[in-house]
Amino acid sequence: MWVERAPDHRVWVGGPVPPGAAAWTLGSLVIVRRRAAHRPLLLAHEAEHVRQWRERGRLGFLVWYLAGYSWARLRGYGHNAAYRRIPAEIEADWRSRRALGIGCDPPPT
Ligand SMILES: [Zn+2]
Repeated sequence: MWVERAPDHRVWVGGPVPPGAAAWTLGSLVIVRRRAAHRPLLLAHEAEHVRQWRERGRLGFLVWYLAGYSWARLRGYGHNAAYRRIPAEIEADWRSRRALGIGCDPPPT
């Protein structure tokens, strides 16, 4: 178990992570399973959640996140499908992929 420092957050490798997840973010702390600690897309995704927490504040982020999940569950989606429809997750996925140049057009030459 160790903690690494990124420019605007810390990454706790080997800390407690909910079942079924590879990592999660609480404010400026990213907690990641040891076996997932070197996955650049995952770390970029969690860094986006750090940005979201900072941008919306603790309460704002939690309300936004849980509302997105609840909205999908109330419409009959199962857990995994509801998770994939959370706006915070969609945004983090898109922004992290863009940050790493995954699925993007190459810059003009
Ligand atoms: Zn996420």
